[in-house]
This record gives sequence, structure tokens and C-alpha cells, in this order.
Amino acid sequence: MTYSSRFTSLFYRLETRIVLAFIVLLLLLQITAFFYITRAIDANARAAVHVELQTGERIFKNLLVQNAQKLSTGARILAADFAFRDAVSLGDQLTISSVLENHGKRIDSAMSLLVGLDHQIVAQSPASSKEQIRKTVDQLAAQGEEKGTASEIATLDGKPFQFVIVPMKAPNTIAWIVMAFPLDENILVQMKKLSSLDSSIFTKDSAQKGGQIGAQTWQLNASTFDVKSKADFEKINPQELASSDASNFKEVFVNNDEFSTLVLPLVNNEQVRTSVILYRSVSAAVAAYQSLKFKLLALMLIGIILTIVASVLFARRLVGPLMKLTVVAKQLGKGDYEVAIDTERKDEIGELALAFSHMRKDIAHREEAISRLAYWDSLTQLPNRVQFLEFLQKAIVQSSEQKQECHVLMMDLDRFKVVNDVMGHQFGDVLLNEVAKRLSTELGVLAYQPARLGGDEFALVLPCSSSQQAQALAHLILKLLERPISIDDQTVDLGAGIGISAYPTDGSDASTLLVHAEVAMYAAKASRSGAMVYRPEIDQSSQSSLSLLSDLRMALETNAFRLFAQPKVELQTNRVIAVEALVRWVHPERGMVFPDHFIPFAEQTGFIRLLTLWVLEQSAAACKSWLALGLKLKVSVNLSTRDLLDQELPAKIQAILSRHNLTPENFCLEITESAIMDDPIRAQQTLEHLSNIGFDLSIDDFGTGYSSLAYLKRLPVNELKIDKSFVLNMEKDADDTKIVRSTIDLGHNMGLRVVAEGVENLAIMQLLTELGCDQAQGYFMSRPIHVDQIFSWVQTWNKEKNIAM
Ligand code: C2E
Ligand code: CA
Ligand code: CA
Repeated sequence: MTYSSRFTSLFYRLETRIVLAFIVLLLLLQITAFFYITRAIDANARAAVHVELQTGERIFKNLLVQNAQKLSTGARILAADFAFRDAVSLGDQLTISSVLENHGKRIDSAMSLLVGLDHQIVAQSPASSKEQIRKTVDQLAAQGEEKGTASEIATLDGKPFQFVIVPMKAPNTIAWIVMAFPLDENILVQMKKLSSLDSSIFTKDSAQKGGQIGAQTWQLNASTFDVKSKADFEKINPQELASSDASNFKEVFVNNDEFSTLVLPLVNNEQVRTSVILYRSVSAAVAAYQSLKFKLLALMLIGIILTIVASVLFARRLVGPLMKLTVVAKQLGKGDYEVAIDTERKDEIGELALAFSHMRKDIAHREEAISRLAYWDSLTQLPNRVQFLEFLQKAIVQSSEQKQECHVLMMDLDRFKVVNDVMGHQFGDVLLNEVAKRLSTELGVLAYQPARLGGDEFALVLPCSSSQQAQALAHLILKLLERPISIDDQTVDLGAGIGISAYPTDGSDASTLLVHAEVAMYAAKASRSGAMVYRPEIDQSSQSSLSLLSDLRMALETNAFRLFAQPKVELQTNRVIAVEALVRWVHPERGMVFPDHFIPFAEQTGFIRLLTLWVLEQSAAACKSWLALGLKLKVSVNLSTRDLLDQELPAKIQAILSRHNLTPENFCLEITESAIMDDPIRAQQTLEHLSNIGFDLSIDDFGTGYSSLAYLKRLPVNELKIDKSFVLNMEKDADDTKIVRSTIDLGHNMGLRVVAEGVENLAIMQLLTELGCDQAQGYFMSRPIHVDQIFSWVQTWNKEKNIAM
């Protein structure tokens, strides 16, 4: 198995699939959970960042308030100074300026101003353009008039400052003192100390250059936030970060990090804008939750490992019994029905195992039934051919061990096919059963092992036996079958042919013995001798049969057949009115061969059909030639079983007649009783067909067959031909005379013409004339002669008998 195919087979295993299904399911769940948890953490972190920024905002505003208070306290001290108050009342400009300067420095004020009640700047330290701060001063003074003290953020030279204003009272307000603190890095550093937030201050001042606000850019005044690139710097001015949505927070990516920002506008008028931006790193906030994430991941990993272990165990529990059942199934396949099946489990697998267990029983039963079918004949319950061959094999071994012979008997019933066709298959089955019963119960010795080989063939085996014993058994069987079999009021006479072969003389193995017994059986049937022991010559004759067939074909091609004819004389008038056509074979080596030597064989092989057509053709030609000479003779032609089975025979005969310009009444067709009885139904069809066309039909060899008169009556025949065995000795044998007489009467009663064949002397001829027989045929008149000699023979006959042509 290659690595990849092993992998695929592993993949397709149920166990692997269950485990995979569990893992995939779990992973899906874990990933979804992880995704939502991470999102929640992120949202949480951002919310916390926003809270921090809001806190930062409050802290920054507090810082501004504290700064303002510090500044106002400093300014109040100055306002309360007697010397300074005097100088102001006196308008001592020099003193005012120097006090402002000194005191301003002492309290770190970036600018100190003395403002008159008319909002005009009286003195200023350090000196700078009054115009620039006039507006701021004006606004502060207005607020001061309202509240007493006030503070405000404003820009100066583009930089933001926190201004405070306090009144100078003596006791009524005589002037205002204004002081200013720069909003620079100091406050941002303080801010960072308190809140750990970074911050920047931006200013946009159009007053400086008199331009429009929108046209000016935001200037960075101070920052604790170190921006590394210029592009990043562009992103962080208050314009960009001013949030459009309801919340004031805005996220921005700076320094490769995400920051959440909050913009606090400090000054927002037409000319000046000052804003503080607070920054908080989001990733830093999230980092606090990072360990939580790792813990979560670790938990998931543990979960997955636990699931794998659990699902493997589960799959094993599930698949294990299935694997066991697979092993059981394989064992069953090998035919082992004894394997243990665990049916203890109560679940579906238990049910499956139970089903398996039932299946095992059913299969075992069925196999038993099949093996019965394989070894037993279901009709007769006798062993069949397969089992018989096994018996025979054992018998051979047993006999050879004891140095004795072993015999095989093979039997075939006579006329079984006829019984089957005429009486029906059910009748045939009952008959076979009766034969089987007689064979198995009436022979006495079970060791013979009677078996049915098929059809109407039976066989027996005699281990350690002599030839005499085998033949005695064969005769016993034939005797058993002589007793007629009665079924449903019908009585049937059965005969059989039995062939016997012996081990070791006729063969050393079962099948050879069986073949030789069969050969002997056919020989027995052919010779009607009942039982026959196998001799190699029988086989040779069957081999010579093969060459005989090719000889027959050859004979037809080389015109080796001759048509002979034997005259039939009308007894009343002594006139020759008909002839019987009889074939002869002129064999290159054997000389003249008579039909008894090749007709049966030609019938067996079907060659007879060709031969019949040849005879008809020749007979028609002869008949035609006699007519041409003024001699009218009806020609009798013999038909065999095979001819009658040929449904096209009538058409073929008609074709021959029309070729010779003859009519059916020139012919008589002779059929033997046994030919009709071989297949009565089809024979009757063909006979009716032939009779309808106009042929005379004759029952040949009448008296030798088994046909009932009732049956013959139904056939469309015109003539009965008494078999020559009854005629030959009739003048000496009274029994034969009786038979001939009653046959003649019977034929006449049925309206048939009666012909006697085998008339060898005058006495017989006279006897037949007395008995009223219609026609005679025999050596006494003439032996069969070549058709070419018929005309001159008839001339001679007529001359002798004084009959006019
Ligand atoms: P079968 O049809 O019974 O023919 C009569 C046979 O009796 C002929 O023998 C004939 O020679 C013989 N026979 C005639 N008169 C006498 C007699 O007075 N005494 C004796 N002892 N015999 C006589 P054959 O020609 O040898 O024919 C034998 C059988 O061969 C015929 O018996 C017939 O069944 C068959 N056969 C002959 N030719 C044909 C044929 O062309 N076609 C068919 N299908 N069968 C034929
Ligand atoms: Ca005949
Ligand atoms: Ca005959």
C-alpha cells in the first residue's frame, strides 16, 4: 500500500471521520467565541481609553483653574501693595513700570499690565505692541467689572497665554492689574505627571497677519507627544481630529500605533483658535488584556486536545464493535458459521449484531438447502449426478483396496418422451417418482445407491461385485419395470435399456465408467435387448457411425444411391397398380448396402430428410417415365419420424410434384406407427396437412407398434399395411392368420385399404385373397428391382397373367 492510498483509506475510516467531525465542530465554536471575545475586549479597552481621556480633560481644566488661581493670587498681592497703590494714584509711571517688572518676574508672569478704569493700558512689562492685546484687555476688564476677577486664554504673537485680571481697590477700584502665563510645555508635562496622557497645544491665529481664519494653518505650540514622521504630523492637528460624530473621540494611526484622541478647544473666536489634544495609545490599553487572550487561547487548545482524546475514545467504542462485525462477516464469507457474535449491547450496534446473528443462521440454512439442491434431485429425492459421481469414486477406491471389481448400471426408460407428451408432464413426474420408489425400496440393498442422473436416466453402483451380480441386478430392475404402473386409472407399460460397465476393465475413473455404461445402455436400447455389458466393440461401432455419416453425405454427392421399387398387386384383378420405393446404397467397398444398415442411422442423424427428398425426386421421375410409356403406377414412399417433424415437408413435396407435372394422387406416403408415436401432436399436424393436399397415407408395419386403434382412427389415413412378420408364416401359423384376418376386418371396418407385405408364396397369396385383403407385395411377385426394370417387369407380368396393358 502506498503512503497516499494508506492515507486515503485512513481518511475514509469511520473512526477518523468521527474524530474530524468533532474537531471541526469544536474549532468552529472556538473560533467564533474567540472572535467575539476579542471584539469585546477591544471594545472594552477602547471604552476604558475614552474614560481615561475624559478624566484627562477634567484634569487639564483643573490645571488651568489652579494656574489662574496662582496667577490671581500673585496679582492680588501686587494690587494690595501700598507703595504700588500710591504710585498708581500718583501716576508715577516710572515706579509703576519697575514694580510691574519686578513683581511679574517674581511670580513667573510672562506679562504684567496696569489697566485704567477706561480699559486703557497704563503700563506694561515687558513692553510690546499695545494694539495686539488691547482687545484681550478690553474683554478682561469688562469681565472684571462684572465679577471682580476674571481669567481668559488668548494668544500673543501666535502663542497661547492664560490671562487674569484683578481690581486695585482704594477702597474703590482705581485700576486693573492683568497678568499672563504662557501655556507651554510645562503645563503639558504637569498634565502627563497627573494623568500619564500625552498632549499637544495647537494655535491658529489670523490676527497676526490679518488674514482669514480658514486660510491659516494650525501651529504646534507645545507637545509631550513625539511624532516621528511629517505625514503622521499632518494627521494630528485639531482640524483633522475634530470629530464629526457625537462623541469627541477620534482614532488615529501615528508612529505605527493606534491612538485615541480628544480635542479640547481653549479659545474659539473669529480670529484665534487654541486647542489641546489628549492622546492615549489604544494598543497599550489593549495590551493589558493581552494575557487574557493568551489564557483564552491556552484554554481552547486544551479543549481541542481533550475533544480529540474524547472523540477518539468515543469512535473506538462505536467503531470497535463494527470492526468485530466486519471480521465476523469475513468469516461468514469463508463459510465459517460458528464464529461468536457478541449480541450483549443494547444499542443500535447491538441490534446490528443481532441481525448479523440471524443472518448467519439464515445463510447456514440456505446453504444447506442449496447443497441439498446441489446433491439431491428435488423431484425424486434421489441423489443427483454430482453425488452419484462421488459415490462412484468412493466405491472405486473401496473396490480397488479389496482388489475386486466395481460395476455401474445406467438405465434409460423406453418411450418416456411419448408418455410425457401424451399424458402431460405431471403424469411424467409421477411416473419418475414411481420408478425412483421401486429402485430405492424394492431392490433390497441400499448400498446400490440408486441415483437420478437427469431426465429419465437412472444409475446404480455396485461396489465389490462380480459381473454376474451386476447382470442379475439389471434383470431384477427390468423385472420391476415390467409391472405396469397405474396412475389415476391409467396404466402404462414401461421398459428400459440398461448398460453396465466395470471397474477396472472398462475404466479406472468414475466419469469414464459412466460414459461406457451409457454407451452400453444405448446399444441395449438400440438392440432392444434390455441389458448390455459394455464391450469396446460397441464403442467402435459408434465411432464407425461418425465416418458413416460422412460416407452418406458422400454417397448423395457421388450418386451412389439407387432407387429400387417393389410391385404391389391388386389381389382381385392381379394387376400391378403400385410400387413401393426402396432405397439402396452402392458402396465402393461393401457393394450393395440394404437400408436396414443405414436408415436407422440416417434417422438418428437427421440425414434422412435429405435422403427422403432424393427418393421423392427419383420416384417422381420414374413415375413420370412410366406414365410416358402408358403405365400408371402409384408410388409408395417411406417417411420417417424426422420427416414428420419437418413442418415444411408438404411444401417441399409439392415443389417436386409440380416440377414433374404430377399430382398428389400419384403418391402414397408410408409412415410407421412408431414414427407417429414419437411426437403424436406434430405428426398429426403434418399428416393432416399432407392428407388435405391429396396424398394417400399408409400405416406401415401395422401390428408391431403400441398405438391404440382409438388414436389411429383420428388420423387421416387411407391404408393399413400389415407387417410382414405376421404374413411370412401365416399359412403355417394359425395365430398369425387370426391376426391378419382381424386386421383386414378392422381396416375395412374403418374404411381403409389393407395391404399385406412379405408375401413369399402362392399359398399366402391365395389365403390373403380369401381373407379379402386388397393388395399384396412380396418376393413371390418380385423382389425390389431397379426402377428402370419396372416397366419391362410389368410387361412380362401382364403377358403371363393375360392382362392387357
Ligand atoms: P419396409 O417399409 O417394411 O419395406 C419393406 C421391406 O420388406 C423391404 O426391405 C423389402 O425388401 C422387404 N420385403 C418385401 N417383400 C418381402 C418378402 O416377401 N419377404 C421378405 N423377407 N422381405 C420382403 P428393404 O428394402 O430392405 O427395406 C427395409 C426397410 O428400410 C423398409 O421396410 C423401410 O422401413 C426402410 N426403407 C427402405 N427404403 C426407404 C426409404 O427410401 N425411406 C425410408 N424412410 N425408409 C426406407
Ligand atoms: Ca414401407
Ligand atoms: Ca413394412
